[in-house]
Amino acid sequence: MDLKQLLYKENYSAEDIESLLSLRDKESITQLQNRANEILNEYAGDSVYYRGIVEFSNLCSLDCYYCGIRKSNKNVGRYTLSGEDIISSAKWCAEQGYGSVVLQSGERSDASFVEFVEDIIKEIKTVTISEKLPHGVGITLSVGEHDKETYERFYKAGAHRYLLRIETTNDTLYKKLHPDNQKLEERKQCLEYLRETGFQVGTGVMIGIPGQTTAMLAEDILFFKEQDIDMIGMGPYLVHNQTPMAEEGQMDKDPLLQLSLNMIAVCRIVLKDINIAATTALQAVVSDGRERGLSYGANVTMPNITPTEVRSSYKLYEGKPCMDEGRQECKSCLLGRVRSIGRDVAFDQWGDSKHFAARIS
Ligand code: SAH
Repeated sequence: MDLKQLLYKENYSAEDIESLLSLRDKESITQLQNRANEILNEYAGDSVYYRGIVEFSNLCSLDCYYCGIRKSNKNVGRYTLSGEDIISSAKWCAEQGYGSVVLQSGERSDASFVEFVEDIIKEIKTVTISEKLPHGVGITLSVGEHDKETYERFYKAGAHRYLLRIETTNDTLYKKLHPDNQKLEERKQCLEYLRETGFQVGTGVMIGIPGQTTAMLAEDILFFKEQDIDMIGMGPYLVHNQTPMAEEGQMDKDPLLQLSLNMIAVCRIVLKDINIAATTALQAVVSDGRERGLSYGANVTMPNITPTEVRSSYKLYEGKPCMDEGRQECKSCLLGRVRSIGRDVAFDQWGDSKHFAARIS
């Protein structure tokens, strides 16, 4: 099958997806990118949506072998922002016209954490109501694995989107990345709970993990399709020096970047009307990484609004950008980046996944 036929197929097999992910020559990549943009415009529109991200705590009870804030990394200064700081950050977002926030943290499931998050959601929903945002800012949570009851509490409090990356759907690779008590099946179960609760469900994987093949990434995309997910946040795997995975190294930057961009384009082509984020990790590979992600079919990006004092303590991987910047700097920088590729930001909107609207109607 020639490339053009492949790009216009109705249904994609694992082999089809693998061959698209493997495209490397310039001309083929341009065709891939063009097709992704065609679908973006047709199914999602070319607006870019912001989610101001507050990394509100780096305390974590998990021990993922790749992550800089894993429990066993004793070199990290642990912090949790006060409720007041989190709420004022969300308020700042709303005032800037960022229609949505992401509250992200390490994973904790103790009762006081759950209550803390629940109270903050309620408060944010109240204080960010305005004429432009009659229901307050949209809240996406990214606070890890919980039982169904907890997800229901978060949803009732007012969060309506949830991002929980599956990291990889390959069981052997998952086991290589995590201690025995962290199970792929449990993470999948959480995605199920989130969907049943009524959340717009986001997931994603790390790209270029040592031992990961394009065949595995193709299976990941088929998993997104089977699970009927609404949004994707994924990015390149990058070494953090104080982790057990560091000794395995990482992919060279050029192929890593191209594989990550191809993943975005292929997800757009296969999954069509979902939201896809151009994540910060892309910018750790190359300075215009996020713009490139947007130009391969992504439609969401996340200005960092974490207070500058704690930013450097939320280092998941080496080379994380914007560690010393303030949120004001991130605001103007990112807007310039989006506009540099001829796109624009849709302010004062939640920017929900069109896929979600279609699946519940
Ligand atoms: N604990 C929460 C969210 C915080 S971690 C959760 O897991 O849901 C957010 C994401 O950062 C993880 O899902 C993982 O995909 C990514 N991440 C962690 N370490 C990384 C690394 N070394 N390189 C690239 N991404 C990493």
